Amino acid sequence: MRLVLVGPPGAGKGTQAEFIAEHFGIPKISTGDIFRANVSGGTDLGQLAKKYMDAGDLVPDEVTNAMVRDRLGQDDAREGFLLDGFPRNVAQAGELDGILAALGSKLTVVLDLEVEHDEVVRRLSGRRTCKKCGHVWHIEFDPPSRPDVCDKCDGELYHRDDDYPETVRHRLDVYAAQTAPLIEYYGGRGQVVSIDALGTVEDVTERAIGALTPFAD
Ligand SMILES: [Zn+2]
Repeated sequence: MRLVLVGPPGAGKGTQAEFIAEHFGIPKISTGDIFRANVSGGTDLGQLAKKYMDAGDLVPDEVTNAMVRDRLGQDDAREGFLLDGFPRNVAQAGELDGILAALGSKLTVVLDLEVEHDEVVRRLSGRRTCKKCGHVWHIEFDPPSRPDVCDKCDGELYHRDDDYPETVRHRLDVYAAQTAPLIEYYGGRGQVVSIDALGTVEDVTERAIGALTPFAD
């Protein structure tokens, strides 16, 4: 199975990626991992990417594309893979089609993790992080016994900027705007399956596996 996983911030995509890849016996390939491997391995592409990152610039599409092409050509990805973080836009989706065609294969399916925005805001904006030990509490789901004090280390809890409701909403809006064309691109080819990504990690994994099993050889 050649699978692309898409999902908004707060949908637990990284965790699901691990479980899904393990279940189907395919490598999980995330752009973050590919970047780190190239940079730490000192490859030409890694050095090029590092130059952009060190300057605080976005790594251009063609560098990312070349890294993905290289990774998908490796032996362990021949029989299938789970891609996380790529493609991010329709241009990259076209690039992925080309990479796979050159390898004599094609994408099997795109799994779209859907979440209710209000619920993500509720989940993320209730988080309080300990300044001292980094533990994350939740005012609703996992509250500390004293307000704004960590039960583990007596450290002070704070509300991370990333977890403010307006920040979370903005990230969700940006994600939705970016991803809609991608879902349309693949949906037009009948390659998208969507599942509700709210619930326990186990429930969501079960839903994902149920939805993907018809696509596994
Ligand atoms: Zn603490």
